Amino acid sequence: MLFCSCIAAKEPAIRYVVDPYHAYSYEEMLEDASTLEQMYPDIIRLDSIGESVEKRDLLLIRFGNGDRKIFINGSIHACEYITTTYLMYMIDRYAYAYKTSGIYEGFDLKKILDSVTFCIVPMLNPDGVNLVHNGLESVRNPEEVSKIFTGYADWKANINGVDLNRNFDNNWYVQRPENGPSAGGFKGYTPLSEPESRAVARYLDSEMFWTFLNFHSKGEGLYGWDDPNIEYYPQLASMVSRIIEASNYRKFIDTPDTDYGTLLGYVRETYLKPALTFELCRYVYGIPYPDEDFDSVWAPARTFCLIVAEEVMNMEAQEYLVFQNNKFLHAFCDEEYAKTYAAKWANSRVLYIQGGIEKLMNMTVSDISVFVDGRQADMQAYNINGNNYFRLRDLATALSDTPARFDIEYDTGSMAVMMTKGKSYTGDHEDVAPVSSGTMAVPSISGLCLNKEKIEAAAYNINGNNYYKLRDIAAAINFGVTYDHHERKISIDTSVAYEDDTAGFVGS
Ligand SMILES: [Zn+2]
Repeated sequence: MLFCSCIAAKEPAIRYVVDPYHAYSYEEMLEDASTLEQMYPDIIRLDSIGESVEKRDLLLIRFGNGDRKIFINGSIHACEYITTTYLMYMIDRYAYAYKTSGIYEGFDLKKILDSVTFCIVPMLNPDGVNLVHNGLESVRNPEEVSKIFTGYADWKANINGVDLNRNFDNNWYVQRPENGPSAGGFKGYTPLSEPESRAVARYLDSEMFWTFLNFHSKGEGLYGWDDPNIEYYPQLASMVSRIIEASNYRKFIDTPDTDYGTLLGYVRETYLKPALTFELCRYVYGIPYPDEDFDSVWAPARTFCLIVAEEVMNMEAQEYLVFQNNKFLHAFCDEEYAKTYAAKWANSRVLYIQGGIEKLMNMTVSDISVFVDGRQADMQAYNINGNNYFRLRDLATALSDTPARFDIEYDTGSMAVMMTKGKSYTGDHEDVAPVSSGTMAVPSISGLCLNKEKIEAAAYNINGNNYYKLRDIAAAINFGVTYDHHERKISIDTSVAYEDDTAGFVGS
């Protein structure tokens, strides 16, 4: 028995964690999230996207292990905090089902959570939620807030009185009636003026999402179904029809009166991917939806994210990748569509990569060692799609005292790396931070020249440095290379000429 309880202390027995039938607070969310992470470490990881005005952490929950990411947020509007309850309850129920039967309402959770990752910010406006729950005396700067505080029940804004769902840089400059900080509807003095909206915008730029879901709580309906780009992701239509079939929700339409500065509009226009806003709950005027009635909120909406996940799994591979120089921005299933996105960014290009972005993430750190004329060289190899690549500067340094020496310069005008044969390497052998496996290797945009003649060599860019296949450089400069697979060792012999011995040189 003692032995059993000892194991139990390390891996808590699974149980339901979230109690939804009361005003669900920020502190409770943090505590429940941490309990869930301990219970389900293989599918739940906690993170943060930034801080609120009052320095509360904006919690991010990564739920699942799949490559296809879905962004979800709740409580952008403070009085609609039941959306946080909903998302936390959802994670709780799905995770429990994942660990027990593996099935929730007929959905195969194992398959879903292996294929997608839900990236969930359950409470984007924690300061506003705190005001709604705990009143003026609980805020950091009660004097300031008291100037705009007119009773807390229908407070939507953040603690500066800015409506975060009007603060995004999309259709923000439309003329609006003069207004200022208030309980709801004020768009801020500039787009993205608030730390919460800035944090989310920055985060959305840092990962590629296949779909965006925003949760509000006014009226059992859906925005975003009428997307003009729907031909590029037909799964949006099936998402919408399945959601409506499951819930009987209505289709809502944004009017020019409401469609400015919203997160939905912003993500749709910026990333050109499906985005939906759910209005959970029957409409109630002026007060938060009654917490004790949570079951009637959950029942029609309990499979929404699973439906979306299945449709995301059905989407075509996004094989047209858009880069800004060597920085990956986003991927699309259609070349022309990718070009419309690329056109918004300076120095951008579209590359077709079979298998999509996952293919580029397959770089691994290689354990192969390199010897130059019998001495071990300081050269780290990286394996990309089965071939070993090396940093050109490392090779130049290793060869600088040999007959195969060459110098390198980068010519910004022609965007080419210029090698000069017979000259010792003059650059510094500056240390490059080690790159870990899984870092993206991007086909390089730089050309390569030897004595001003262009040469063909496959190259990848990893974190701003160009990496080449040793064999391509050996052929160009003309030195001998042999590979010993048993020792996992490459030997460079600068006293002999290059021989194309591909058969004995597999993997390099
Ligand atoms: Zn709302």
